Amino acid sequence: MIQDLSYGSLDNQYRYLQPQEDDIVVCIQSNRILFRRNEDNTLAMPTVKQVEQWRGSWEYWLEEPYRYVFTLQDRRFFLWLGKAEQPEDEAYFFMTARDVREPESRDLCFGAMTAWHLYCWYRDNRICGRCGHKTVHDYKERMMLCPECGNMIFPRISPAAIIALTHGDKLMLAKSAVGNVTRYGLLAGFIEIGETAEEAVAREVLEEVGLKVKNIRYYKSQPWGIVGNLSIGYFCDLDGDDDTVTLDTNELASAEWFSRDDIPAKDDGISLTREMIRLFEEGKEPK
Ligand SMILES: [Zn+2]
Repeated sequence: MIQDLSYGSLDNQYRYLQPQEDDIVVCIQSNRILFRRNEDNTLAMPTVKQVEQWRGSWEYWLEEPYRYVFTLQDRRFFLWLGKAEQPEDEAYFFMTARDVREPESRDLCFGAMTAWHLYCWYRDNRICGRCGHKTVHDYKERMMLCPECGNMIFPRISPAAIIALTHGDKLMLAKSAVGNVTRYGLLAGFIEIGETAEEAVAREVLEEVGLKVKNIRYYKSQPWGIVGNLSIGYFCDLDGDDDTVTLDTNELASAEWFSRDDIPAKDDGISLTREMIRLFEEGKEPK
């Protein structure tokens, strides 16, 4: 999966650091992130030194244009805290956060996805939602603080259940009704306030395909910064023998049973969903 780094680790403890010229800068324009492509076709991001050469009149929100976010595999990442423009150097291009999932550049894509999650949180919490005053960053930890009313705002992560519903030798695969989705995925949904993850699994399956489940078992979780989620993967079995689907057409375009030999989805080494589908295909799902 995308967070399984080829070496090193993600050190995301907050520190107040000043950017050095070789540090990486994550520059964002609307929902797109700035990259360039190396000669071997892998992705790269600009360094502070490069950004300083062409940033010109780029605007930023706060007193300082850069904010340290984390260290990934010994490289320090900073966010550009504002709106980036197309650099004069044409080697650079913007790519949407949703498309940042290239297996050849998986480690950098994970950095970009995680920085995007943090960027969205910083962007959306410049003002206190309780009293409307301008917030400031806390010195010691990753927290936006309102100096007027004391409101403490921590990074927001939305837990979502990824659900592999099985029935003997069959797995339920679905296509979302939202957007122009062509790939099959698993059933999925956000965990509501006041419910457990396991309750969310049972509720989502009932809502989306009208079926009851049993033997709900946890598999793995995955940070999915593109949409600010923590995906939590569960396998579960159909309760009973009637596997007739009653589709919630607001959520899903289709939901069908597929046998192990007939799975129309391949593991891309990126997402928890794909790994869980592969596990079932190979008969290795947790029992
Ligand atoms: Zn406030």
